[in-house]
Amino acid sequence: MSGTKLSCDVVVIGGGATGVGVLRDAAMRGLSAILVERVDLGQGTTGRYHGLLHSGGRYVVSDPESATECAEENAILTRIHPDAVEATGGLFVAVAGDDESYPDRFLAGAEATGVPTSEITVAEALRREPRLNPQIFRAFEVHDGTVDGWRMVWGAADSARQYGAQVLTYHRVTGIEVRDGAVAAVICHGDKTGEDVTIDCRAVVNAAGPWAGKIAELAGEQDVEVVPGRGIMIAMNHRLVNRVVNRCVYPADGDILVPVHTVSIIGTTDARASDPDRLAIEPAEVQQMLDAGEQLIPGFRQARALHAWAGARPLLKDRRVSADDTRHMSRNMSVITHDVRGLVTVAGGKLTTYRLMAARTMDAVCQVLGENRPCRTADEAVATGSTYKVTHRLGEVEKAKKASHGLPDPDPVICECELVTKSMITDLLAAQPTATFDDLRRQLRIGMGPCQGGFCASRTAGIAHESGCWSAAQSTELLRLFLKNRWNGIYPILSGAQAREASLDEWIYQGTYSIDALPVTDLPAGAELVSATPYPSPGPNPAASTGDTQSTDSASGTSTANSSGEGK
Ligand SMILES: Cc1cc2nc3c(=O)[nH]c(=O)nc-3n(C[C@H](O)[C@H](O)[C@H](O)COP(=O)(O)OP(=O)(O)OC[C@H]3O[C@@H](n4cnc5c(N)ncnc54)[C@H](O)[C@@H]3O)c2cc1C
Repeated sequence: MSGTKLSCDVVVIGGGATGVGVLRDAAMRGLSAILVERVDLGQGTTGRYHGLLHSGGRYVVSDPESATECAEENAILTRIHPDAVEATGGLFVAVAGDDESYPDRFLAGAEATGVPTSEITVAEALRREPRLNPQIFRAFEVHDGTVDGWRMVWGAADSARQYGAQVLTYHRVTGIEVRDGAVAAVICHGDKTGEDVTIDCRAVVNAAGPWAGKIAELAGEQDVEVVPGRGIMIAMNHRLVNRVVNRCVYPADGDILVPVHTVSIIGTTDARASDPDRLAIEPAEVQQMLDAGEQLIPGFRQARALHAWAGARPLLKDRRVSADDTRHMSRNMSVITHDVRGLVTVAGGKLTTYRLMAARTMDAVCQVLGENRPCRTADEAVATGSTYKVTHRLGEVEKAKKASHGLPDPDPVICECELVTKSMITDLLAAQPTATFDDLRRQLRIGMGPCQGGFCASRTAGIAHESGCWSAAQSTELLRLFLKNRWNGIYPILSGAQAREASLDEWIYQGTYSIDALPVTDLPAGAELVSATPYPSPGPNPAASTGDTQSTDSASGTSTANSSGEGK
């Protein structure tokens, strides 16, 4: 076959948390490793999750093994990813009407599983989180935190590269060559380069999350039955709480509120999806999440819902429950050593346990290769940068303002919601000249705060053009793509205050800029690969309904959210 030829010990398929964790682990064990990801890193489930670094509390009754794993990994990740983890702490609260016997089982389970937990008074819980429902009758503090999945994945990938590993993004695996019963090579196609790449290897790790079944089939293995467990989440427009707040109940829908960066995220649901690339957001689920938020925080519905998105848990079929009951399927990790020698699949688990999953996977690979190479990923911090603080940008912006002595700011704030300055944008574009709007969004959080790009997106496009990175026509097309993707997450929650905001944005972009009428040009190769346009485009007046109930124009009443990431 023509195209590029590479070779290494281990090929890792999938650039989510699990795959990147395996890559780092393999490289730190001294093996040569190449990761292949069909889009960019962290664009699968890892870019569409709830943001919670589990303390283990959620699983102390339902899944004790997972609870202990989470507690141990929580401590390790906090240490090795200081710039991605915010150690917010967390509360479990029992609200009037909840099962009164559960809190005692919770406390006993925490004790048995080693999840650090202590009971605090209701008054103390309300002092710490004044917006909590005053009807709570018991409260416990735990070590929950939040974790920026992208920052974590990028940090682990950089660390792996320092140990000699390679990362091929925008490369889709199309085949696995098996010779004499063993994996021999992985074949992939570069969607940006148009080239085929063949990677000769001794082992293949299938870390393709909800797509893992399809990858196993490429090697002729039919025994990986992944059931995508779809969950939706909604970002609210500010930090309603500063700690993670969990309902103290057996795991259920909408029972966790997570403060992530500048917003709070309520979630989640759990229902079987037929295709992890097409995840629906039902209007009833949106209402269910808002109702659940209201039970934790009275007045929750008055806050503005910013953005909704969905992700698919890579659950392995659990024969103890019905094929559609993803809520009760095990969250445990599974490492499968296949009959095809050298092929190992890893699935299940949680983002919180990504490092442990990688360690167990590489133990299995080393066993297949007959080599004794111990795991070292817990010994060394991934990032040596500063510890994450939600207020870090405010401090920097205020310092710069003071230094300018009242003169026009040489480095103005472009995105007020996330305090992104002009130099942050130009520095990123200088370092990554092919960066798209979506790269700026994920790396700087442009468009992820309360205005959802309404004010900052056009300024950013202008700066990118001014800096010579994007032509005028390219800026317009990238801006249009960005707005379309934001719209995918806004449409399912379009009502009340958010409908008014969408109407204003529509007026700015259509009324003032006539963005649909401006000349455009081809997008840079690969820019559209992370996008989908399943919703009706905003018309002249997208906010036809400004009532208090969810509005949807789609014929089925069902929305699909496949936007390029979430609105955190
Ligand atoms: C709604 C929801 C909320 C969650 N909340 C939390 C939480 O708060 N805390 C927590 O710890 N966990 C949470 N999880 C679980 C966690 O998000 C997942 O366990 C984790 O992100 C899975 O990572 P992964 O790398 O296994 O899969 P993914 O991130 O999906 O990675 C798989 C990758 O494989 C790639 N791929 C697929 N096919 C190919 C191909 N042919 N060639 C190349 N690449 C391919 C995909 O593009 C993708 O990037 C949540 C999950 C969901 C769905």
